[in-house]
Amino acid sequence: MIWDSKIIMTIIDIVVIAMAVVATWTFSKNKWLLRSLHVSSGLRLIVIGLIILAAFYLVDLLIMFIFPLFMPMKEAMGIMNDLHLNYMWIVSTISIGCIVIGLVYLIRRLFPRIIKLRIDLEEAHADLKDELSALKSVEQKLLRNENKLKELTLIDQLTGVTNRRGYDLTVESEWNRARRTRTPLSLIMLDIDFFKNYNDNYGHPAGDECLKRVAMALNSKIVRAGDVVARYGGEEFVVILPGSNKEAAATLAELLRQAVESLNIEHKVSKATDHVTVSLGVATTAINHDGNYKALLLEADTAMYEAKKAGRNQVKIA
Ligand code: GH3
Ligand code: MG
Ligand code: MG
Repeated sequence: MIWDSKIIMTIIDIVVIAMAVVATWTFSKNKWLLRSLHVSSGLRLIVIGLIILAAFYLVDLLIMFIFPLFMPMKEAMGIMNDLHLNYMWIVSTISIGCIVIGLVYLIRRLFPRIIKLRIDLEEAHADLKDELSALKSVEQKLLRNENKLKELTLIDQLTGVTNRRGYDLTVESEWNRARRTRTPLSLIMLDIDFFKNYNDNYGHPAGDECLKRVAMALNSKIVRAGDVVARYGGEEFVVILPGSNKEAAATLAELLRQAVESLNIEHKVSKATDHVTVSLGVATTAINHDGNYKALLLEADTAMYEAKKAGRNQVKIA
């Protein structure tokens, strides 16, 4: 019989007691968590079951080690055998029963909570998703507004064409691109003839209107992607023509001159004609060009003054 051996029985007793103590300790360590989940009744049952189990094996140890002090060893082992044979099943039934019922109780209490937690988590996840998509749409709106703002800062408010800042940015990048790709870059500089007289005679608001119409006429002739009309300042405009050689630029300049002339805006105080006209200067880079875009603009400007000197309402090529 196994419980005739004192050593084996001692080992079994110590192992069972240690398991019960560790299990109780583990439960009590997490008690705050279990209590917060209102499952202390289930926990209590489990701990009671473990204590009963540990107590039984403790009694076992007592009988084996204390009883022999008062009676013969054989008699003490006999009492222990009796204890095991008669009461072991009762103790195990009660303790294991307590533990099982406690566990069931815990699971029963915890399960709905876990499900509820999961549902809450799913809802929170869905809310977060909604918020994220709302944030994304706000971000897109902001991005659109930012682009609009950028555009606005590069557009001349009166005429709607590119402003001076836009010109500076565009001409520099086109100049660099032309150098890189060894393609020509042309600039047309143009200025309304006797515009001071126009303003003086027809008034500033009419002058503004005239500027708008001239800008629109110029813009209507720009069809190639990359070509840009910019208001350089006052009644002066620059047209940037990436990839256009001298001949193409001169042809376009003449088209622009005609477009303004055909607006047929009355200008009685012009010394050139009786309607609004422009004088234009064209400059083109050489394929292997050095220098900078400012020098190119100066060339176009000089050519434009040649056109002014020659009687206005005409194109001159640098
Ligand atoms: P030229 O043929 O030699 O170019 O003579 P001009 O009178 O056109 O040249 P000038 O530089 O003497 O005069 C330019 C005029 O353009 C003076 C200024 O009042 C006018 N001007 C500049 N900007 C604006 C504007 O935004 N609106 C209006 N209405 N007039 C403007
Ligand atoms: Mg001028
Ligand atoms: Mg002028």
